[in-house]
Amino acid sequence: MLLEGKNVLITGASRGIGRATAIECARHGAAVALNWFKDREGMEETLAEIARLGRRAVEVEGDVACPESAERFVSAAAAALGGVDVFVSNAGICPFHAFLDTPIEVFERTMAVNLHGAYYMTQTAARQMRLQGTGGVLIAISSISALVGGGMQAHYTPTKAGVHSLMQSCAIALGPYGIRCNSVMPGTIATDINREDLADPAKRAYMEKRIPLGRLGEPRDVAGCVVFLASDLARYVTGASVLVDGGLFVNLQ
Ligand code: NAP
Repeated sequence: MLLEGKNVLITGASRGIGRATAIECARHGAAVALNWFKDREGMEETLAEIARLGRRAVEVEGDVACPESAERFVSAAAAALGGVDVFVSNAGICPFHAFLDTPIEVFERTMAVNLHGAYYMTQTAARQMRLQGTGGVLIAISSISALVGGGMQAHYTPTKAGVHSLMQSCAIALGPYGIRCNSVMPGTIATDINREDLADPAKRAYMEKRIPLGRLGEPRDVAGCVVFLASDLARYVTGASVLVDGGLFVNLQ
């Protein structure tokens, strides 16, 4: 029960890592507010799972790329739950595309959702935390891609380096308010975002072979790290990043 009495907000919680994070936070005693965009059915499933755990959950639909969504999400969450203690910026897209002919719309949308959306949401949550005056925790779901490249991801990897950098700057800007800011860098986690890419058995086997722990990650693997960073166990951790990749990053060969 690492998050008993905490209110945790998570963007992109209808599926994948966001859903697993919502469930894990609820398992640790938190009340949760969940943003989603297109997957209503997925959101219903997340809510049902949290209800089974006997925890409170509210949902707010909204495209994180629109600045107004941040205001709507944070104010609705604060009103429903009574405040904001932890904010997890998770919503993201990764439309794989070769660099040389990536359409400008794909580049702009990926930046708008992953980087601009994270910025609007983080800033709005931080303003609410400052208003409350009791500190808080901001966590960005960055990626191993903040540290290494991907030939089909030149429009994506800069967004993940960007949110990591955002957390570093926020750690400095918000330290005086008692707000800790960190990023989590997942490796290859099996979710919808890479389902197509990993559908090729040869590609999947190659990835598994490169991971020292011998398997792809599961959304729950990332959620555990988020719970740790959100909790008081990490009370002196800010401006940091944690790789959750089964050892992939350090495996040069
Ligand atoms: P996923 O299963 O595809 O889930 C993505 C989530 O983001 C969904 O809940 C989706 O909501 C939401 N979302 C997408 N666009 C949105 C928008 N404009 N506004 C609000 N919500 C939006 O992917 P995932 O793997 O869990 O990815 C979650 C995060 O982890 C992303 O930031 C991704 O970059 C990062 N990450 C993933 C991996 C990996 O290997 N899976 C590795 C490193 C980092 P709707 O479906 O409701 O639209």
